[in-house]
Amino acid sequence: MFRLALHWQIFIGMIAGSLLGVTLNLTCSQRSVKITAADGLPKTIVSAEVNDSSSSTTIRYTDKEGKTTERIIDPVSKNPDVFASIEMLEKTDPIAVSVYHHHGRSFAKQVGAWFSKIGGLFLRMLQMVAVPLIVTSLTTGILGLGSSAGIGRMFRRTILYYLCTSLLAISTGLFAVNLVRPGLRGAEVKQAVTEPAEAASLVDVLFDQLEAMIPKNPLHAFVAPNYLSIIAFTVAFALFTISVGGATLERVGNIATAGFEVMMAMTMAIIRLAPLGVFFLIAAVTATQGMNVFFALAWYVVAVSLALGFHALITLPLILKFVAKRSPYEYAKAMSPALLTAFSSASSNGTLPLTMSNVEERAGISNRTGSFVLPLGATINMDGTALYEAVAVLFIAQLHFGMNLPASQQIVVATTALLASVGAAGIPHAGLVMMAIILHAVGLPIEMQGVILAVDRVLDMARTAVNVWSDSCGCAVVESLEVKDAAA
Ligand code: ASP
Repeated sequence: MFRLALHWQIFIGMIAGSLLGVTLNLTCSQRSVKITAADGLPKTIVSAEVNDSSSSTTIRYTDKEGKTTERIIDPVSKNPDVFASIEMLEKTDPIAVSVYHHHGRSFAKQVGAWFSKIGGLFLRMLQMVAVPLIVTSLTTGILGLGSSAGIGRMFRRTILYYLCTSLLAISTGLFAVNLVRPGLRGAEVKQAVTEPAEAASLVDVLFDQLEAMIPKNPLHAFVAPNYLSIIAFTVAFALFTISVGGATLERVGNIATAGFEVMMAMTMAIIRLAPLGVFFLIAAVTATQGMNVFFALAWYVVAVSLALGFHALITLPLILKFVAKRSPYEYAKAMSPALLTAFSSASSNGTLPLTMSNVEERAGISNRTGSFVLPLGATINMDGTALYEAVAVLFIAQLHFGMNLPASQQIVVATTALLASVGAAGIPHAGLVMMAIILHAVGLPIEMQGVILAVDRVLDMARTAVNVWSDSCGCAVVESLEVKDAAA
Protein backbone atom coordinates (compact mmCIF):
# COMPACT_ATOMS: atom_id res chain seq x y z
CA MET A 1 0.00 0.00 0.00
CA PHE A 2 1.21 3.52 -0.77
CA ARG A 3 2.46 5.26 2.34
CA LEU A 4 3.66 8.82 2.55
CA ALA A 5 7.20 9.23 3.94
CA LEU A 6 7.30 10.21 7.61
CA HIS A 7 8.68 13.70 7.04
CA TRP A 8 5.83 14.47 4.63
CA GLN A 9 3.31 13.18 7.13
CA ILE A 10 4.78 15.45 9.80
CA PHE A 11 4.88 18.38 7.40
CA ILE A 12 1.23 17.88 6.51
CA GLY A 13 0.39 17.61 10.23
CA MET A 14 2.14 20.91 10.79
CA ILE A 15 0.38 22.73 7.96
CA ALA A 16 -3.03 21.31 8.89
CA GLY A 17 -2.46 22.23 12.56
CA SER A 18 -1.44 25.79 11.66
CA LEU A 19 -4.45 26.25 9.39
CA LEU A 20 -6.85 24.98 12.04
CA GLY A 21 -5.20 27.10 14.76
CA VAL A 22 -5.20 30.29 12.70
CA THR A 23 -8.83 29.72 11.68
CA LEU A 24 -9.84 29.23 15.31
CA ASN A 25 -7.87 32.31 16.29
CA LEU A 26 -9.52 34.48 13.65
CA THR A 27 -13.06 33.23 14.07
CA CYS A 28 -13.47 32.18 17.69
CA SER A 29 -11.39 34.59 19.79
CA GLN A 30 -14.19 37.14 19.68
CA ARG A 31 -16.25 36.97 22.82
CA SER A 32 -18.46 39.38 24.68
CA VAL A 33 -19.83 38.33 28.07
CA LYS A 34 -22.09 40.11 30.50
CA ILE A 35 -21.52 39.10 34.09
CA THR A 36 -24.09 39.50 36.83
CA ALA A 37 -24.09 39.14 40.61
CA ALA A 38 -25.40 35.60 40.14
CA ASP A 39 -22.07 34.71 38.49
CA GLY A 40 -20.32 35.48 41.78
CA LEU A 41 -19.03 39.02 41.09
CA PRO A 42 -17.16 40.85 43.89
CA LYS A 43 -19.76 42.32 46.34
CA THR A 44 -19.15 45.98 45.42
CA ILE A 45 -19.86 45.42 41.73
CA VAL A 46 -23.32 45.63 40.25
CA SER A 47 -22.68 44.59 36.67
CA ALA A 48 -19.73 43.86 34.42
CA GLU A 49 -18.87 43.07 30.84
CA VAL A 50 -15.81 41.61 29.15
CA ASN A 51 -15.09 41.92 25.42
CA ASP A 52 -12.39 39.76 23.90
CA SER A 53 -11.08 40.29 20.39
CA SER A 54 -8.16 38.45 18.85
CA SER A 55 -5.91 41.40 19.71
CA SER A 56 -7.23 42.98 22.91
CA THR A 57 -9.57 42.59 25.86
CA THR A 58 -11.80 45.26 27.40
CA ILE A 59 -13.13 44.86 30.94
CA ARG A 60 -15.90 47.20 32.08
CA TYR A 61 -17.65 47.18 35.45
CA THR A 62 -20.06 49.38 37.37
CA ASP A 63 -20.00 49.62 41.17
CA LYS A 64 -22.78 50.35 43.66
CA GLU A 65 -22.24 54.10 43.41
CA GLY A 66 -22.87 53.90 39.70
CA LYS A 67 -19.22 54.53 38.73
CA THR A 68 -18.10 52.65 35.62
CA THR A 69 -14.45 51.62 35.22
CA GLU A 70 -12.91 50.41 31.98
CA ARG A 71 -9.61 48.57 31.61
CA ILE A 72 -8.02 47.58 28.32
CA ILE A 73 -5.44 44.86 27.84
CA ASP A 74 -3.42 45.01 24.64
CA PRO A 75 0.19 43.87 24.50
CA VAL A 76 1.13 46.21 21.66
CA SER A 77 -0.70 49.44 22.46
CA LYS A 78 1.40 52.56 23.01
CA ASN A 79 -1.22 54.18 25.25
CA PRO A 80 0.15 54.34 28.82
CA ASP A 81 -3.31 53.61 30.29
CA VAL A 82 -3.50 50.27 28.50
CA PHE A 83 -2.10 47.15 30.19
CA ALA A 84 0.13 44.64 28.44
CA SER A 85 -1.32 41.54 30.12
CA ILE A 86 -3.86 40.50 32.69
CA GLU A 87 -1.05 39.78 35.19
CA MET A 88 0.09 43.38 34.93
CA LEU A 89 -3.36 44.65 35.80
CA GLU A 90 -3.38 42.68 39.06
CA LYS A 91 -1.64 45.34 41.19
CA THR A 92 -3.60 48.32 39.84
CA ASP A 93 -7.04 46.80 39.74
CA PRO A 94 -7.61 43.39 41.33
CA ILE A 95 -11.38 43.83 40.94
CA ALA A 96 -11.04 44.01 37.13
CA VAL A 97 -8.88 40.89 37.21
CA SER A 98 -11.48 39.08 39.29
CA VAL A 99 -14.19 40.16 36.82
CA TYR A 100 -11.99 38.88 33.98
CA HIS A 101 -11.62 35.50 35.63
CA HIS A 102 -15.40 35.19 35.79
CA HIS A 103 -15.88 35.48 32.06
CA GLY A 104 -14.14 32.27 31.18
CA ARG A 105 -12.02 31.77 28.10
CA SER A 106 -12.82 32.26 24.46
CA PHE A 107 -13.52 29.12 22.46
CA ALA A 108 -10.14 29.46 20.70
CA LYS A 109 -8.30 29.61 24.03
CA GLN A 110 -10.26 26.63 25.42
CA VAL A 111 -9.57 24.52 22.36
CA GLY A 112 -5.95 25.70 22.39
CA ALA A 113 -5.54 24.51 25.98
CA TRP A 114 -6.91 21.08 25.07
CA PHE A 115 -4.72 20.79 21.99
CA SER A 116 -1.72 21.68 24.07
CA LYS A 117 -2.59 18.89 26.54
CA ILE A 118 -3.04 16.34 23.75
CA GLY A 119 0.22 17.39 22.04
CA GLY A 120 1.81 17.21 25.48
CA LEU A 121 1.06 13.47 25.59
CA PHE A 122 3.34 12.97 22.59
CA LEU A 123 6.08 14.99 24.28
CA ARG A 124 5.66 12.91 27.45
CA MET A 125 6.23 9.74 25.44
CA LEU A 126 9.46 11.18 24.07
CA GLN A 127 10.51 12.23 27.56
CA MET A 128 9.71 8.73 28.80
CA VAL A 129 12.28 7.13 26.51
CA ALA A 130 14.91 9.89 26.70
CA VAL A 131 16.91 8.85 29.79
CA PRO A 132 17.12 5.08 29.13
CA LEU A 133 17.83 5.77 25.46
CA ILE A 134 20.71 8.15 26.25
CA VAL A 135 22.22 5.79 28.83
CA THR A 136 22.10 2.61 26.74
CA SER A 137 23.08 4.38 23.55
CA LEU A 138 25.99 6.26 25.12
CA THR A 139 27.27 3.12 26.86
CA THR A 140 27.13 1.08 23.64
CA GLY A 141 28.78 3.92 21.75
CA ILE A 142 31.67 4.35 24.17
CA LEU A 143 32.30 0.64 24.55
CA GLY A 144 32.44 0.60 20.76
CA LEU A 145 35.09 3.34 20.78
CA GLY A 146 37.12 1.03 22.94
CA SER A 147 39.52 3.41 24.66
CA SER A 148 39.66 6.64 26.60
CA ALA A 149 41.98 8.07 23.92
CA GLY A 150 39.20 7.58 21.35
CA ILE A 151 36.73 9.32 23.63
CA GLY A 152 39.11 12.19 24.33
CA ARG A 153 39.59 12.78 20.62
CA MET A 154 35.88 12.72 19.90
CA PHE A 155 35.21 15.04 22.83
CA ARG A 156 37.75 17.61 21.60
CA ARG A 157 36.33 17.54 18.08
CA THR A 158 32.77 17.86 19.30
CA ILE A 159 33.56 20.83 21.57
CA LEU A 160 35.55 22.54 18.81
CA TYR A 161 32.63 22.17 16.40
CA TYR A 162 30.19 23.55 19.01
CA LEU A 163 32.42 26.52 19.72
CA CYS A 164 32.98 27.42 16.05
CA THR A 165 29.36 27.14 14.99
CA SER A 166 28.07 29.04 18.04
CA LEU A 167 30.51 31.89 17.35
CA LEU A 168 29.50 31.94 13.68
CA ALA A 169 25.84 32.05 14.74
CA ILE A 170 26.43 34.94 17.13
CA SER A 171 28.37 36.90 14.49
CA THR A 172 25.51 36.40 12.04
CA GLY A 173 23.04 37.64 14.68
CA LEU A 174 25.13 40.73 15.43
CA PHE A 175 25.48 41.49 11.74
CA ALA A 176 21.72 41.17 11.14
CA VAL A 177 20.70 43.34 14.08
CA ASN A 178 23.22 46.06 13.14
CA LEU A 179 21.96 45.94 9.58
CA VAL A 180 18.20 45.88 10.21
CA ARG A 181 18.32 48.05 13.38
CA PRO A 182 14.89 46.90 14.54
CA GLY A 183 14.96 48.97 17.74
CA LEU A 184 15.62 52.21 15.87
CA ARG A 185 12.68 51.91 13.51
CA GLY A 186 10.10 53.16 15.96
CA ALA A 187 8.84 49.75 17.06
CA GLU A 188 5.34 50.28 18.36
CA VAL A 189 5.76 48.33 21.51
CA LYS A 190 4.28 48.76 24.90
CA GLN A 191 7.04 48.44 27.42
CA ALA A 192 5.67 45.84 29.76
CA VAL A 193 6.79 46.49 33.29
CA THR A 194 7.59 43.28 35.07
CA GLU A 195 8.97 42.76 38.52
CA PRO A 196 12.72 43.28 38.26
CA ALA A 197 14.27 39.88 38.75
CA GLU A 198 17.74 39.34 40.16
CA ALA A 199 20.03 38.13 37.38
CA ALA A 200 22.22 35.22 38.38
CA SER A 201 25.92 35.85 37.83
CA LEU A 202 27.51 34.18 34.84
CA VAL A 203 30.23 32.60 36.97
CA ASP A 204 27.55 31.00 39.16
CA VAL A 205 25.72 29.62 36.15
CA LEU A 206 28.87 28.12 34.66
CA PHE A 207 29.98 26.72 37.99
CA ASP A 208 26.55 25.10 38.34
CA GLN A 209 27.22 23.35 35.04
CA LEU A 210 30.58 22.16 36.29
CA GLU A 211 29.02 20.87 39.51
CA ALA A 212 26.34 19.10 37.50
CA MET A 213 29.08 17.06 35.85
CA ILE A 214 29.93 15.58 39.23
CA PRO A 215 26.57 14.35 40.48
CA LYS A 216 26.55 13.76 44.24
CA ASN A 217 23.92 11.13 43.73
CA PRO A 218 23.72 9.68 40.20
CA LEU A 219 20.32 8.15 40.92
CA HIS A 220 19.00 11.57 41.73
CA ALA A 221 20.42 12.85 38.43
CA PHE A 222 18.56 10.10 36.56
CA VAL A 223 15.31 10.96 38.30
CA ALA A 224 15.57 14.78 37.91
CA PRO A 225 16.63 14.27 35.02
CA ASN A 226 19.82 16.28 34.73
CA TYR A 227 21.28 15.44 31.33
CA LEU A 228 24.76 16.78 31.96
CA SER A 229 25.06 14.65 35.12
CA ILE A 230 23.67 11.61 33.31
CA ILE A 231 26.15 12.01 30.45
CA ALA A 232 29.11 12.52 32.82
CA PHE A 233 28.24 9.50 34.94
CA THR A 234 27.52 7.25 31.96
CA VAL A 235 30.78 8.20 30.25
CA ALA A 236 32.73 7.49 33.47
CA PHE A 237 30.88 4.19 33.95
CA ALA A 238 31.62 3.07 30.39
CA LEU A 239 35.27 4.12 30.55
CA PHE A 240 35.80 2.18 33.77
CA THR A 241 34.00 -0.80 32.28
CA ILE A 242 36.62 -0.77 29.53
CA SER A 243 39.43 -0.54 32.05
CA VAL A 244 38.02 -3.48 34.08
CA GLY A 245 37.73 -5.44 30.81
CA GLY A 246 37.31 -9.22 30.48
CA ALA A 247 33.98 -10.88 31.27
CA THR A 248 32.66 -7.70 32.93
CA LEU A 249 33.19 -5.69 29.77
CA GLU A 250 31.40 -8.37 27.78
CA ARG A 251 28.48 -8.57 30.21
CA VAL A 252 27.96 -4.80 30.45
CA GLY A 253 28.31 -4.56 26.67
CA ASN A 254 25.65 -7.21 26.12
CA ILE A 255 23.19 -5.62 28.53
CA ALA A 256 23.73 -2.14 27.08
CA THR A 257 23.30 -3.40 23.50
CA ALA A 258 20.13 -5.30 24.38
CA GLY A 259 18.72 -2.31 26.24
CA PHE A 260 19.60 -0.01 23.37
CA GLU A 261 17.84 -2.20 20.82
CA VAL A 262 14.66 -2.21 22.88
CA MET A 263 14.76 1.54 23.53
CA MET A 264 15.33 2.19 19.84
CA ALA A 265 12.31 0.04 18.95
CA MET A 266 10.20 1.98 21.46
CA THR A 267 11.40 5.31 20.08
CA MET A 268 10.60 4.26 16.51
CA ALA A 269 7.08 3.32 17.57
CA ILE A 270 6.56 6.70 19.27
CA ILE A 271 7.90 8.53 16.25
CA ARG A 272 5.05 7.18 14.16
CA LEU A 273 2.80 9.41 16.25
CA ALA A 274 4.85 12.51 15.41
CA PRO A 275 2.47 13.80 12.68
CA LEU A 276 -0.41 13.83 15.17
CA GLY A 277 1.71 15.25 17.99
CA VAL A 278 2.99 18.04 15.77
CA PHE A 279 -0.55 18.78 14.53
CA PHE A 280 -1.84 19.40 18.05
CA LEU A 281 1.21 21.31 19.28
CA ILE A 282 1.14 23.73 16.34
CA ALA A 283 -2.63 24.16 16.44
CA ALA A 284 -2.42 25.04 20.16
CA VAL A 285 0.15 27.78 19.56
CA THR A 286 -1.55 29.32 16.54
CA ALA A 287 -5.02 29.23 18.15
CA THR A 288 -3.95 31.17 21.22
CA GLN A 289 -1.29 33.54 19.90
CA GLY A 290 -2.63 36.93 18.78
CA MET A 291 -1.31 37.81 15.33
CA ASN A 292 -1.08 41.57 15.83
CA VAL A 293 2.01 41.37 18.04
CA PHE A 294 3.98 40.22 15.03
CA PHE A 295 3.21 43.41 13.16
CA ALA A 296 4.29 45.60 16.06
CA LEU A 297 7.56 43.71 16.40
CA ALA A 298 7.91 43.03 12.69
CA TRP A 299 11.45 44.39 12.26
CA TYR A 300 12.67 42.47 15.25
CA VAL A 301 11.09 39.26 13.94
CA VAL A 302 12.68 40.01 10.54
CA ALA A 303 16.16 40.46 12.08
CA VAL A 304 15.94 37.21 14.08
CA SER A 305 14.50 35.23 11.15
CA LEU A 306 17.08 36.59 8.69
CA ALA A 307 19.96 35.63 10.96
CA LEU A 308 18.53 32.20 11.87
CA GLY A 309 17.79 31.55 8.19
CA PHE A 310 21.32 32.50 7.14
CA HIS A 311 22.90 30.26 9.75
CA ALA A 312 20.64 27.28 9.02
CA LEU A 313 20.51 27.58 5.23
CA ILE A 314 23.98 28.87 4.38
CA THR A 315 26.58 28.51 7.14
CA LEU A 316 25.72 25.02 8.39
CA PRO A 317 25.10 23.57 4.89
CA LEU A 318 28.50 24.92 3.77
CA ILE A 319 30.15 23.16 6.73
CA LEU A 320 28.22 20.00 5.87
CA LYS A 321 29.27 20.17 2.24
CA PHE A 322 32.94 21.04 2.66
CA VAL A 323 33.89 19.51 6.00
CA ALA A 324 31.57 16.53 6.27
CA LYS A 325 31.30 16.02 2.47
CA ARG A 326 27.58 15.41 2.67
CA SER A 327 24.73 16.72 0.54
CA PRO A 328 23.01 19.33 2.76
CA TYR A 329 19.68 18.69 1.05
CA GLU A 330 19.78 14.93 1.60
CA TYR A 331 20.95 15.38 5.16
CA ALA A 332 18.20 17.88 5.96
CA LYS A 333 15.65 15.53 4.42
CA ALA A 334 16.89 12.70 6.62
CA MET A 335 16.72 14.90 9.71
CA SER A 336 13.39 16.54 8.86
CA PRO A 337 11.21 14.57 11.33
CA ALA A 338 13.43 15.76 14.19
CA LEU A 339 13.64 19.32 12.84
CA LEU A 340 9.88 19.65 12.42
CA THR A 341 9.28 18.21 15.89
CA ALA A 342 11.86 20.58 17.39
CA PHE A 343 10.03 23.45 15.69
CA SER A 344 6.63 22.39 17.00
CA SER A 345 7.72 21.55 20.53
CA ALA A 346 10.35 24.28 21.11
CA SER A 347 12.35 21.77 23.14
CA SER A 348 15.63 20.24 22.00
CA ASN A 349 15.71 17.93 25.02
CA GLY A 350 12.19 16.74 24.23
CA THR A 351 13.19 16.07 20.62
CA LEU A 352 16.42 14.25 21.54
CA PRO A 353 15.15 10.65 21.14
CA LEU A 354 13.89 11.53 17.68
CA THR A 355 17.13 13.27 16.73
CA MET A 356 19.12 10.25 17.88
CA SER A 357 17.05 7.79 15.92
CA ASN A 358 17.03 10.04 12.82
CA VAL A 359 20.81 10.40 12.62
CA GLU A 360 21.29 6.67 12.96
CA GLU A 361 18.35 5.26 11.03
CA ARG A 362 17.91 7.86 8.33
CA ALA A 363 21.21 9.72 8.01
CA GLY A 364 23.50 6.74 8.38
CA ILE A 365 25.65 8.12 11.22
CA SER A 366 27.19 5.50 13.51
CA ASN A 367 25.79 4.94 16.97
CA ARG A 368 29.22 5.76 18.44
CA THR A 369 29.12 9.31 17.10
CA GLY A 370 25.39 9.99 17.45
CA SER A 371 25.17 8.75 21.02
CA PHE A 372 28.04 10.99 22.05
CA VAL A 373 27.53 14.18 20.06
CA LEU A 374 23.74 14.53 20.37
CA PRO A 375 23.03 14.31 24.12
CA LEU A 376 25.94 16.65 24.77
CA GLY A 377 24.75 18.96 22.00
CA ALA A 378 21.16 19.09 23.27
CA THR A 379 22.54 20.32 26.58
CA ILE A 380 25.32 22.71 25.65
CA ASN A 381 25.31 23.44 21.91
CA MET A 382 22.62 25.96 21.06
CA ASP A 383 23.50 28.02 18.00
CA GLY A 384 19.95 29.29 17.56
CA THR A 385 19.70 30.36 21.18
CA ALA A 386 23.12 32.08 21.19
CA LEU A 387 22.21 33.98 18.01
CA TYR A 388 18.81 34.92 19.39
CA GLU A 389 20.24 36.23 22.65
CA ALA A 390 22.61 38.50 20.74
CA VAL A 391 19.86 39.91 18.51
CA ALA A 392 17.38 40.35 21.36
CA VAL A 393 19.80 42.12 23.68
CA LEU A 394 20.98 44.50 20.97
CA PHE A 395 17.36 45.19 20.00
CA ILE A 396 16.53 46.02 23.61
CA ALA A 397 19.62 48.23 23.82
CA GLN A 398 18.56 50.07 20.65
CA LEU A 399 15.11 50.68 22.16
CA HIS A 400 16.50 51.71 25.52
CA PHE A 401 19.41 53.94 24.53
CA GLY A 402 18.05 55.01 21.13
CA MET A 403 21.30 53.91 19.47
CA ASN A 404 23.46 50.86 18.77
CA LEU A 405 25.71 49.55 21.50
CA PRO A 406 29.40 50.39 20.87
CA ALA A 407 31.61 47.61 19.50
CA SER A 408 33.24 46.89 22.87
CA GLN A 409 29.84 46.30 24.47
CA GLN A 410 28.80 44.14 21.52
CA ILE A 411 31.79 41.91 22.25
CA VAL A 412 30.58 41.57 25.84
CA VAL A 413 27.15 40.61 24.47
CA ALA A 414 28.74 38.04 22.14
CA THR A 415 30.79 36.30 24.82
CA THR A 416 28.01 36.30 27.41
CA ALA A 417 25.54 35.06 24.77
CA LEU A 418 27.86 32.16 24.03
CA LEU A 419 28.15 31.20 27.69
CA ALA A 420 24.46 31.79 28.37
CA SER A 421 23.56 29.44 25.52
CA VAL A 422 25.76 26.76 27.09
CA GLY A 423 23.91 27.25 30.35
CA ALA A 424 20.41 27.25 28.81
CA ALA A 425 18.38 24.06 29.20
CA GLY A 426 16.81 22.49 26.11
CA ILE A 427 13.28 23.41 27.14
CA PRO A 428 10.79 26.05 25.92
CA HIS A 429 11.70 29.67 26.82
CA ALA A 430 15.00 28.69 28.46
CA GLY A 431 16.79 31.29 26.34
CA LEU A 432 14.59 34.02 27.74
CA VAL A 433 15.56 33.11 31.28
CA MET A 434 19.28 33.19 30.47
CA MET A 435 18.95 36.54 28.74
CA ALA A 436 18.71 38.26 32.11
CA ILE A 437 22.42 37.53 32.57
CA ILE A 438 23.40 39.32 29.36
CA LEU A 439 21.15 42.31 30.03
CA HIS A 440 22.80 42.59 33.41
CA ALA A 441 26.27 42.40 31.87
CA VAL A 442 25.65 45.44 29.65
CA GLY A 443 23.67 47.40 32.23
CA LEU A 444 20.21 47.11 30.70
CA PRO A 445 17.11 46.88 32.90
CA ILE A 446 15.90 43.30 33.08
CA GLU A 447 12.26 44.34 32.94
CA MET A 448 12.83 45.46 29.31
CA GLN A 449 12.53 41.77 28.48
CA GLY A 450 8.78 42.27 28.73
CA VAL A 451 8.98 43.94 25.29
CA ILE A 452 9.85 40.73 23.45
CA LEU A 453 7.78 38.30 25.53
CA ALA A 454 4.83 38.40 23.16
CA VAL A 455 6.73 36.89 20.23
CA ASP A 456 9.07 34.65 22.18
CA ARG A 457 7.17 31.43 21.65
CA VAL A 458 7.31 31.50 17.86
CA LEU A 459 10.93 32.64 17.77
CA ASP A 460 11.70 29.92 20.32
CA MET A 461 10.32 27.34 17.87
CA ALA A 462 12.61 28.61 15.13
CA ARG A 463 15.74 28.79 17.28
CA THR A 464 15.10 25.31 18.70
CA ALA A 465 14.96 23.86 15.16
CA VAL A 466 18.29 25.58 14.45
CA ASN A 467 19.75 24.17 17.70
CA VAL A 468 18.79 20.64 16.67
CA TRP A 469 19.99 21.18 13.08
CA SER A 470 23.40 22.30 14.34
CA ASP A 471 23.69 19.25 16.64
CA SER A 472 22.80 17.00 13.70
CA CYS A 473 25.37 18.66 11.43
CA GLY A 474 27.91 18.21 14.24
CA CYS A 475 27.34 14.45 14.06
CA ALA A 476 28.15 14.43 10.34
CA VAL A 477 31.30 16.53 10.86
CA VAL A 478 32.65 14.46 13.77
CA GLU A 479 31.75 11.23 11.96
CA SER A 480 33.61 12.23 8.80
CA LEU A 481 36.73 13.13 10.81
CA GLU A 482 36.56 9.79 12.66
CA VAL A 483 36.16 7.88 9.40
CA LYS A 484 39.15 9.75 7.92
CA ASP A 485 41.22 8.74 10.96
CA ALA A 486 40.17 5.13 10.66
CA ALA A 487 41.15 5.10 6.98
CA ALA A 488 44.56 6.72 7.65
N1 ASP B 1 13.85 26.15 23.52
C1 ASP B 1 15.27 26.09 23.21
C2 ASP B 1 15.70 24.64 23.09
O1 ASP B 1 15.06 23.76 23.62
C3 ASP B 1 16.09 26.82 24.21
C4 ASP B 1 15.77 28.29 24.15
O2 ASP B 1 14.83 28.74 24.81
O3 ASP B 1 16.43 29.00 23.38
O4 ASP B 1 16.68 24.34 22.45
